[in-house]
Amino acid sequence: MFDVHVHAAPDVLDRIGYDDQIGASYAAAGYGGFVLKAHHESTVGRASALSRSSGLDVVGGVALNRAVGGINPAAVLSALSSGGRVVWFPTADSHTQESARLPRLGDLDDRLDRSVLAVPPVLAEDDPAVKDVAFVLDLIAEHDAVLCTGHVSGDECRWLLEQALARGIGRFLLTHPSYTVPGMEVREIAELAERGAHVEITAYQLFHQPGMTAARLAAVAEAAGPRLVLASDAGQPNSPEPPAALEQLIQALTAEGLDPGRLRDAAGDTPRELVLP
Ligand SMILES: [Zn+2]
Repeated sequence: MFDVHVHAAPDVLDRIGYDDQIGASYAAAGYGGFVLKAHHESTVGRASALSRSSGLDVVGGVALNRAVGGINPAAVLSALSSGGRVVWFPTADSHTQESARLPRLGDLDDRLDRSVLAVPPVLAEDDPAVKDVAFVLDLIAEHDAVLCTGHVSGDECRWLLEQALARGIGRFLLTHPSYTVPGMEVREIAELAERGAHVEITAYQLFHQPGMTAARLAAVAEAAGPRLVLASDAGQPNSPEPPAALEQLIQALTAEGLDPGRLRDAAGDTPRELVLP
């Protein structure tokens, strides 16, 4: 088993455990590894330290939010040159996050302005910031890293997939596309999966997404076809331990009639091959 999305302490929000505690829970559950995600800092150093001490394949990366300079090629070059494997486009500082009133760093201190991040087509193609987006995409291609779409809108996810295909980026994951952000429809998810996008479904959605049901997640899983990836996105104090969270997602989808073997692959070999070189 391999969990492609988990959060641990230290973080700006409370988490269920520190890196070593989260690592121990995966080791006890027999996992081979996981991807450590943080919204406001690179996890490359933390993942490397934990990998060496635990023997698990702990993978780090960088989420392109304002604390790392936004869509910042310097942050990406640094992360990928130090062994990072994953780049998430804006999550907590995406324009979608602000309009959906989901948590932002500025919630901690109102002296921080509320400016947001976007890519085309929300950002105009002639915006000077687009050259940084292109540089980041080139870096992902050159390092054979994983492009995760983050919380940007469905139209931006589509634009990112087109860019990825044009640049030969072979590792592309739609970050929980049926979550509130980006809030993509099943038919749109099916179309992007057909064109090569992997599709993430998270246990977090099952536990915490307003209006979400196991039946809707099962429809997304069907739409993803062979590119389905199941992840926990756990680490919240009010979610189960990450391995238990992912197990509950698998059980819920099994109860909806999906093949258990296929679901195990989606939480094991598929994400492992997507992320590891
Ligand atoms: Zn997450």
